[in-house]
Amino acid sequence: MSPGLARALAFIGPSNRKVALHNLHTGEDISVTYFEDGQYVPDALDQVNQVLRDFRTGDVHQIEPGLLDLLHVMRSKMALDRPLQVISGYRSPKTNAYLASISHGVARHSLHMEGMAIDIRAPGIGLAEVHRLALSLGAGGVGYYPASDFVHVDVGPVRHWGAEDHWEDG
Ligand SMILES: [Zn+2]
Repeated sequence: MSPGLARALAFIGPSNRKVALHNLHTGEDISVTYFEDGQYVPDALDQVNQVLRDFRTGDVHQIEPGLLDLLHVMRSKMALDRPLQVISGYRSPKTNAYLASISHGVARHSLHMEGMAIDIRAPGIGLAEVHRLALSLGAGGVGYYPASDFVHVDVGPVRHWGAEDHWEDG
């Protein structure tokens, strides 16, 4: 976990952590407490893995719990009581290769393939604000895609890219 994310979690304080997501491709919703009494809840993580599966192939992959912590921090800081909307979660190697072949916006070795990245927007909150918040946390990678109306966040190394200058989805 990056120092930025650890700091943000510490700031929120010891509490149960909930994730609430709406998958725009499948229409599925999930709202679960995935961290309780100081530990991750395996059943809840399994449910999240299902909802964030590669919807094109059906492949399920473990989503990094730290990524859920990042989303938890973001929802807390935005005081968002609605689910985050998910454009892309896990991507199988097959799907990622396909997307990379049709778009310059997809990295060949995407962190989406490791279950460490997610593309989101927040209902009722401007994309620029979501982007600013993500950057301010210093928790990992942040990509800004205003034309497609989403922000990419990941729990890889801290870095950022955005708008039209460096069109690469990590
Ligand atoms: Zn992404």
